[in-house]
Amino acid sequence: MEQDLDKVILSKEQISERVRELGEIINQDYSDKQLFVIGILRGAAVFMADLIRQIDLPMELDFMAVSSYGISTKSSGVVRIVKDLDSTITDKDVLIVEDIVDSGLTLKYIVENLKSRKPASIRLCTLLDKPSRRVADVEVQYNGFIIPDEFVVGYGLDYGEKYRNLPYIGVLKPEVYSK
Ligand code: 5GP
Repeated sequence: MEQDLDKVILSKEQISERVRELGEIINQDYSDKQLFVIGILRGAAVFMADLIRQIDLPMELDFMAVSSYGISTKSSGVVRIVKDLDSTITDKDVLIVEDIVDSGLTLKYIVENLKSRKPASIRLCTLLDKPSRRVADVEVQYNGFIIPDEFVVGYGLDYGEKYRNLPYIGVLKPEVYSK
């Protein structure tokens, strides 16, 4: 897998340090709240597993899966819920955990959908943010790293379902996805 990468942009150590910091901030912000964490499958699974172990508060956990890019590296803007929550979020303080916000279209759809279920609050936590690519207007309260407009893989992020298990985040060689 490593030979498909151009460069590593975030090391294992950088990621774990930042995840620890995010956990600390979330601990403070949610100390008097009813925390309900929603992980967006499949990309956020690795980040979420590490993040929740830095949160020292009672919390509930659930997952949602939405249709993603498939094999392409660009958002189609079409979002479909493939797996919905198993529990209700009414009156809960929802924290959505996502791997990366790119155009923002995916999160915009998810937030609008969840708002209609009347949670007490909704906030977003993303490991990575590419603000230069934003199309939809979404507010991200917890942001791991701002990255440039490059297609990245690793630490949960895939390309054609590969590379999710890399412990760091890197940029794929362009020839890998232009094939
Ligand atoms: P958005 O709707 O914000 O454009 O896209 C969000 C989703 O696109 C992410 O959850 C992720 O699945 C995918 N995505 C966006 N940029 C990247 C990237 O650089 N690498 C990978 N692997 N997926 C990305």
